[in-house]
Amino acid sequence: MSREANNAALGYDAEIALAGNPNVGKSTVFNALTGLRQHTGNWSGKTVENAYGRMRCDDTVYRVVDLPGAYSLNALSKEEDVAREYLMDEKDRVIVAVADASNLARNLLLVLEVLSYTERTVLCLNMMDEASRKGIVIDCDELSLRLGVPVVPVCAKKKSTLKSLRETVHAVASGDIRTFRVRSLELDRIMKIEDEGERSGELYRKIDELCRCCVVHTRADENIRDRRLDRVLTSKVTGIPVMLLLFGALFWITAVGANYPSAILSQCFGYLGDQLSAIMIAMHFHPTLQSLLMDGVYTTLTWVVAVMFPPMAIFFPLFSLMEDSGYLPRIAFNMDGVFYRYGASPKQCLTMAMGIGCNACGVMGCRIIDKEHERRIAIVTNALMPCNGRLPALLAIISVFFSMTDSVMLNSLITAAVMVVLLVLSVIITLLSSSLLSKTLYRGSKSGFILELPPYRRPKILETIWRSLADRALFVLLRAVYVAIPAGAIIWCIANIEIHGASILSYLVGFFDRFAFIIGVDGAVIMAFLLGFPANETVIPVLLMSYLSASVLTDYSSYDMLHTLLIHNGWTALTAVCFLTLCLFHFPCSTTCLTIHKETGSITDTLTAFLLPTVIGVILCMLLTAGATLARIVF
Ligand code: GDP
Repeated sequence: MSREANNAALGYDAEIALAGNPNVGKSTVFNALTGLRQHTGNWSGKTVENAYGRMRCDDTVYRVVDLPGAYSLNALSKEEDVAREYLMDEKDRVIVAVADASNLARNLLLVLEVLSYTERTVLCLNMMDEASRKGIVIDCDELSLRLGVPVVPVCAKKKSTLKSLRETVHAVASGDIRTFRVRSLELDRIMKIEDEGERSGELYRKIDELCRCCVVHTRADENIRDRRLDRVLTSKVTGIPVMLLLFGALFWITAVGANYPSAILSQCFGYLGDQLSAIMIAMHFHPTLQSLLMDGVYTTLTWVVAVMFPPMAIFFPLFSLMEDSGYLPRIAFNMDGVFYRYGASPKQCLTMAMGIGCNACGVMGCRIIDKEHERRIAIVTNALMPCNGRLPALLAIISVFFSMTDSVMLNSLITAAVMVVLLVLSVIITLLSSSLLSKTLYRGSKSGFILELPPYRRPKILETIWRSLADRALFVLLRAVYVAIPAGAIIWCIANIEIHGASILSYLVGFFDRFAFIIGVDGAVIMAFLLGFPANETVIPVLLMSYLSASVLTDYSSYDMLHTLLIHNGWTALTAVCFLTLCLFHFPCSTTCLTIHKETGSITDTLTAFLLPTVIGVILCMLLTAGATLARIVF
């Protein structure tokens, strides 16, 4: 079916598409036009595939397409490929070329390329607030005259400024405003030049001419604030220590902040649990059904909500603020040399940072990496970064085993420090694995580093917090709850259905117990990781269930209860360390595995991504256990 027919079938009258360089605010414009919540962030490469939305003007319903950011239509990377394919397909639609007004010269290359394909274009000059802060004045009328298309200045962060963009796009689409490519641009002639270098030269000459006539810079020091910040954040001496401190602070705030809501929620759930049990007794529930609901489903669910949600609800918004301020690419910049040396693309640093949020997102994000073998390395190693699903389990075990002093403040500092150490360990293991893979399975030439440092931007604090809570934290929580309810019921069943006097779980745990001691844990831990395959969030609840089937505790979801329970089941500091190691390094969750398969189309890559962290985790745990045994013998 043609796109027009397809659109008509879906109830759309016409189509408009947003094109532009990465990080010019395209997704923000898209969200404002459609009322949707496409992911925004202050760095290039986070929109990797077309997003679709709906916009209504008068009686016309438009399908709005947000194309991935592209610097030009030369299609160097997968995202540029997606954008180019769409733009080259000369179907009837209006293109909104979104450009960063504070950096117009760089944005005009794509604008001219778009114009060479389609006249029905509107130039949206976004970030007008930044441009005026930097003292940049743009003569929009002159620019419009020279390009032959309407030029609309906006500040997408303020939705009200988009009214005129909406009206102009509608007017162009309905034919009320006619666009025409101005002859003097000579785009047709330039685009026919065979030699790429010569063609770009001509285009840049045009861009120079346009900027000279339409843009005035009134301040010489327009980027001074960014340069000052960069002197600290990207310097060879201070860059990496500041980065570690920032991550430490992030984990510290998460650990301290999560304690209070966790404690309150635990108490509430304890109280509610007692009431529910009392009601069930009064209603003469069968004891088995009551145990299934309370010890199985309720325990798992309350753990997920009381212990998992608070850290996520704090970590996600803080991480999003970091993302929105423009700091993430600085991390990539600081680590650039190291990644290069280890045979990985420096952009892998960004996809790893995305992996801290969610490995499946990190894997999708690898499309920003141009070279195929480097993209595959980044994909199969992404799960070596601890995703947020694992974060609460890590925080919980660190808190109950290594931060049990009397001072809450000291405890949270210790937890944050251990988290930073674990993060550094993940990075080191990722680098070593990448290096190994680049010399074996995924060989190829190294790519250069072309990553732009975006300007620092003050994030829209409340909106960022709200968005990351609503979109990410709640999404992950719901997914966990969705998995926790059946997982709680299933694990309760296998813990309570008996064959020859012993439960299925105890058979399985017993089976794994035979090998588990080699890696410093017990069968219950192995079962917990295996049953946590659908979602990492359920690892601790499953573990609780295995242990709880042997003992009944009333305080359902506090760290104290967890500590008592683990010690009761023979945990030592070594078990905790091995658990943390396995938590960092084990197979990715099912969603990530599916995403890897979708992104690579390869069973081998998916298997590699599955086995690599698992083998690393097992080997590290074996070494730790052997080391501890040896130390015990020697001392
Ligand atoms: P995309 O990569 O083009 O989709 O860009 P995003 O929509 O993700 O925006 C990049 C960054 O610019 C985000 O931090 C936005 O909050 C910010 N941003 C978007 N529009 C404006 C604007 O008009 N003014 C300012 N100051 N920042 C903006």
